[in-house]
This record gives sequence, C-alpha cells and structure tokens, in this order.
Amino acid sequence: MSDLYDLYQEMILDHSKRPRNQGEIEGVTNEAHGHNPLCGDQIHVTLILDVDVVQDVAFTGKGCAISTASSSLMTETVKGMTIAQIEELFEGFHSLVTGQNEPAHGDDLGKLAVFSGVSEFPMRVKCATLSWHTLRAAIDQTTDPVSTE
Ligand code: ZN
Repeated sequence: MSDLYDLYQEMILDHSKRPRNQGEIEGVTNEAHGHNPLCGDQIHVTLILDVDVVQDVAFTGKGCAISTASSSLMTETVKGMTIAQIEELFEGFHSLVTGQNEPAHGDDLGKLAVFSGVSEFPMRVKCATLSWHTLRAAIDQTTDPVSTE
C-alpha cells in the first residue's frame, strides 16, 4: 500500500510542477472563476463545448500543489467527455476525496485515484474539488460568442 501512495504522491507532484492544459485556448464558449478562500487557491477554467461534449479545456490561476495537480488531471481527464460522463465522474471523485468510497472503487476513476489520500486531510478536500466545481460552473455558464469582427 505504501508503494502505491508513493506513486500517487509522485504523480501529484509531477502534475503540480508541470501542469497539463495550463494556459489559454481560442474559441472559448464557456468559462468560470473559482476561489477557495480556505487555502487561497484561484482558478479560471475555459472550455470549448460542442453541444454536450467538451472539445477542449484549459485553466489559469494560482493554487497549492493539490489544487494545481487537480486542475491538471481534471482537464486531462474530461477532454472529449460528455457533460453526463463528467457528472458521473465528479460524483465518484467527490466520494473518493471525502472518504465515502471504498478504495477499490477508486479504480474506476483512472488517474484520479491518486487523490484518494486527500480524504485523510479534510482541509484539502476543497483544494482537490475546486477545479471540478469551477468546471461545472463553466458548463452552466455559457459566454456570449466572442467575435473580433
Ligand atoms: Zn489549496
């Protein structure tokens, strides 16, 4: 079990140091800002939604290692998913980090299972879920089409 946790730690560290999908994308249809006052994490999520499929997603902002790694892994995971698939995944992820899930069920979450240790640190749950709450806010909040014409 400790080898597994070492691996998880390594992956969280890797994603916090070299976040994937950090930056700007063009043709954004939805966006939202998220803030976790408990820790000071700030995140801005932008995405391109095609009917109900997330075609592309990126984030900017500053946060702790957990929140940055979560943003990185969240964007990597949801790209190409439908809103329904994302909702299902978020439910599983939320159960995992709040400790409502048996560890074995974490397998369904793929790489997101690296956050299973967060359930032992209630203060960190908001850090791990901030990017997901912001993503859901962005999905609900369609921006006016951006035009340079
Ligand atoms: Zn944090």
